Amino acid sequence: MAIQLPELPYAKDALAPVISANTLEFHYGKHHRAYVDNANKLIAGTPFEKESLEAIIQKTSGDAAKVGIFNNTAQIWNHSFYWQCLKPGGGGAPTGAIAAKIAAAWGSYDKFAEELKTAGITQFGSGWAWLVSDSGQLKIVKTANADTPIAHGLTPLLTLDVWEHAYYLDYQNRRPDYLTAVIDKLINWDFVNERLA
Ligand code: MN
Repeated sequence: MAIQLPELPYAKDALAPVISANTLEFHYGKHHRAYVDNANKLIAGTPFEKESLEAIIQKTSGDAAKVGIFNNTAQIWNHSFYWQCLKPGGGGAPTGAIAAKIAAAWGSYDKFAEELKTAGITQFGSGWAWLVSDSGQLKIVKTANADTPIAHGLTPLLTLDVWEHAYYLDYQNRRPDYLTAVIDKLINWDFVNERLA
């Protein structure tokens, strides 16, 4: 039961100009695919072959002897989730249940957006910025490298990839510009609302 690379939920040019087709060719077509290929090689012939992606991540988190399996499977999960968090014509203030929850937790969407952007900017090196539910309480957290909230008992609602490969072709070193554009124009709040339900 090999791990599969999921289909992108849109065409590779659908997120342009915020995220170019060129970036998606590499980010989805090369990086995400490489995590899938590497994970399948690492779990071949082990009991992990019969486990779900989530179970593998939870069982290898924090185990130095299995860091390769953790890094590759967690990156598969994080990227599959990230693609769903984006859509053409998305972004800006949300509607639905998430709008009320953000207003309750942060006071305003603008304050939330600023904190999310700051989390992405201040993640030193490679990693991810997240909106998570911690037993029903909304929080913004960041993780380094492949680390993922599902390894820590948190429910991810939204993520932004801040590895350089996510933005360097389009924004070079300007990570804040990438974050601003994605938050303003691409966040798929319908997906976030589905995650809340
Ligand atoms: Mn990435």
